[in-house]
Amino acid sequence: MSELSPEPLNGLHRTHYCGVLRAPDAGQKVVLMGWVDRRRDLGGLIFVDLRDRSGATQCVFNKDLTPQVFARASELRNEFVIAVVGQVAKRSVPSTNENLATKEIEVLVEELHILNPCKTLPIHISDEQAPDEGLRMQYRYLDLRKPRLVRNIALRHKVTKAVRDYFDSQGFYEIETPILTASTPEGARDYLVPSRVNPGKFYALPQSPQLYKQILMVGGLDRYFQIARCFRDEDLRADRQPEFTQIDMEMSFVERDDVLTMVEGLVHSLFAKLQLPVPAAIPRISYSEAIEKYGSDKPDLRVDMVIQDVSDLIGGQTGFGAFDQALAEGMRIKGLVVKGQAHITRKEQDHYKSIAQGANLPGLFFIAHTPEGYKSSLLKFLGEEKIAHICQQMGAESGDLVILAAAPSKDLSVALGKVRLELAQHLNLLDPQRYEFLWVIDFPMFSWNEEENRLEAEHHPFTSPLPSDLERLESDPLSVRAAAYDLVLNGSELASGSVRIHQRDLQARVLKCIGLSLEEAETKFGFLLNAFGYGAPPHAGIALGLDRLVAILAGETSIREVIAFPKNTNGVELMTGAPVVVTDEQMKLVHLKYDL
Ligand code: ASP
Repeated sequence: MSELSPEPLNGLHRTHYCGVLRAPDAGQKVVLMGWVDRRRDLGGLIFVDLRDRSGATQCVFNKDLTPQVFARASELRNEFVIAVVGQVAKRSVPSTNENLATKEIEVLVEELHILNPCKTLPIHISDEQAPDEGLRMQYRYLDLRKPRLVRNIALRHKVTKAVRDYFDSQGFYEIETPILTASTPEGARDYLVPSRVNPGKFYALPQSPQLYKQILMVGGLDRYFQIARCFRDEDLRADRQPEFTQIDMEMSFVERDDVLTMVEGLVHSLFAKLQLPVPAAIPRISYSEAIEKYGSDKPDLRVDMVIQDVSDLIGGQTGFGAFDQALAEGMRIKGLVVKGQAHITRKEQDHYKSIAQGANLPGLFFIAHTPEGYKSSLLKFLGEEKIAHICQQMGAESGDLVILAAAPSKDLSVALGKVRLELAQHLNLLDPQRYEFLWVIDFPMFSWNEEENRLEAEHHPFTSPLPSDLERLESDPLSVRAAAYDLVLNGSELASGSVRIHQRDLQARVLKCIGLSLEEAETKFGFLLNAFGYGAPPHAGIALGLDRLVAILAGETSIREVIAFPKNTNGVELMTGAPVVVTDEQMKLVHLKYDL
């Protein structure tokens, strides 16, 4: 550590941020404060790039003009915190660094104050150097100084501000709901907090404000939103955080389309504020169509490849065992057209085959529609005429590649959906600067939980079934569709919501379907069922993932890059070390013992 003793500010006031001075400011006397980004010693001149969250300015120390200040400047090291007083001067040759907004000027330093030295750095403060992510998290205060992180945090602020402004303009109230609460129903495991004053009892951290926001509607608040922290004790896959933030909202006296229109308005106003091209009307497709055409309930529409069913075009006995047998067993043959890829190599074909195999699809078959004719192992079975007809019907032109496969319908679509995405990635079709939104509606109400051998709610059990399907609720529950909807952006599920049940009887029926007896339902959600007995208005809502939204807008693939203090994939916050071991005394206070 340097022997330098830090100087106090002593009434010195910063006049500008480091990234704001431009050529017209030349001649002004300024006071800048920030961190030493870089120091270059050129004998009689020392150049220091002084950086803060807004950018950097070159500061010049001149041995001939200010010898004492110059002498002190030679003590500066990276990340020292300093204040400089000096005059802005136009550079005779502007910096060639195009990213440096202050490239036309520099500050000729007359006074230097070293406000705090800095130890040798464990990580570089530079976007180019990407050290181990663990180190970045441990020294997050250094990591946060990087321009990229500053940009992401600033963007997050802008997004939340735009969200608040929009909902305010639409008559929503921002209302906080409890963090210490009872278990909520999103279906993940809860984080539990023991209560010191209520021995043996626990709060659960909310998986979402779902029940509170519905209760707010029963309470007559009509339009609610919240930038809400949610906690789910799930196994942490690559890009999940145990705590994350939702833009949560709920509205009364509305139907599905009112919520969709409200969210579209939010997207438009947000994009306009961020000066991004405002998306056109957001298309809507049903869950079953999404699976059929894209093999996913969150299709990435930046890719215009669509899965096509060619079973009828192939038809009858072709002599090709894999197809004939599949059709005889009621399976389907589907495929994709890949534009301009007739020439792909055997090695690439094998790669796509292995992606398909990973999704339980044993074989992929290729037809290359080349200017010299069709090339395919299927030619000898299907014949040129049929191949030409299939290609024409699928919209494949000369230069294109057709990929075909056979399997049970849904599995086949899902597997081809994976191949579709892999192709898109490989062919660089996933432009991060393009934003393709999509509504997926009419989700199934339930799915079958193999492990527990019971139905579970696909969204959550407070979601209303579609009225047209209600009569099959008990007789054929897996065929019942829900008034649930997802907003998808570039292949990510950005938001999920639903029209809610607001009738006590229907709520009890749905809870029964997922295996909750009336008594259990009363114990767990009695307050909600009770509230529904006292005049609950029809209501609906949605929650958008703020972390994912900001990550996509920032062009980041990981949400950890847009969260100030993220946790790693083991749920550990490496700077504080949380979760940590507590003392026996602390355990005793909350009436707990543990046995590891
Ligand atoms: N609470 C739901 C969720 O977190 C969202 C909603 O239905 O509004 O998925």
